[in-house]
Amino acid sequence: MPISPWRALSPDTGDHYLFFERRFRYVVEDPEHTWRRVWVPTVIACPVCEADTGLRLAFKTGTDVVVEAACPVGHTWVEPRVDVSQWMAYCRYRAGQQEIDWLWLIEAGFGEEPPPPIDYVKEIREGAVEVAKYGRRKAKAKVRREIRKVKKKVGKRVRNEAMRPVAALLRTAWTMQAGGVDPAKAARRRPTEPKPPKTPPVSAYRKAYGVQAPEKGPKCLVCEDTGRITAPGISVPCVECGGPAAAALAAAERRAERARQGKDERRTSTTK
Ligand SMILES: [Zn+2]
Ligand SMILES: [Zn+2]
Repeated sequence: MPISPWRALSPDTGDHYLFFERRFRYVVEDPEHTWRRVWVPTVIACPVCEADTGLRLAFKTGTDVVVEAACPVGHTWVEPRVDVSQWMAYCRYRAGQQEIDWLWLIEAGFGEEPPPPIDYVKEIREGAVEVAKYGRRKAKAKVRREIRKVKKKVGKRVRNEAMRPVAALLRTAWTMQAGGVDPAKAARRRPTEPKPPKTPPVSAYRKAYGVQAPEKGPKCLVCEDTGRITAPGISVPCVECGGPAAAALAAAERRAERARQGKDERRTSTTK
């Protein structure tokens, strides 16, 4: 049992013991090449569990006749495919002894698989994923930005259009009520009032009459019930269809109508 007890690598004292994190390959001569020697690296695996990483190989000079191997689980087997003289040469190479006569063995692929390419590939792939994610984020942000822009533009226009009749009604009511407005409130809202305001902003009317601001629901007006928000290069489904827009506007109009009618009676009596 050369595998146990395990020993440190020491070729000079006959201890050819090595542990391999990665796969280990021995070389066989390619029989198809007759005019030139070609070596084919062949991977060793546990005959029981087929593990090919984390293997240990051992050969003690003077004691063993074949190389013995063990897998991480603990299966051990003899490995006559690994040539003893090649194994000992590889152990000397791993111990730092470079021998010109044996360089061909390393070049043929004998020994533990080299690590770098696998790691680089993984790293690059992960990096590419990160870059792609970043790109996607940027693209999404751009689309969102465009949609916001369109919504704002269209929304403002639509809101103004939609509020025109309502604002007209509210303005009438406002004018009628101007005398009865709480002076403190009016002062707070507009501290210096040289003369009665010609046309206060729509927002003032809204505030005065508790009309819901249309920003809360003009989204459906954005898509104009087509269900899609469109702009140059962009066409996305409207995500806020059937929102409270219609309801809010209807409520505003009802309220305005009520206010108008209530004041209309007084108007007929107060104005000439
Ligand atoms: Zn095994
Ligand atoms: Zn909509």
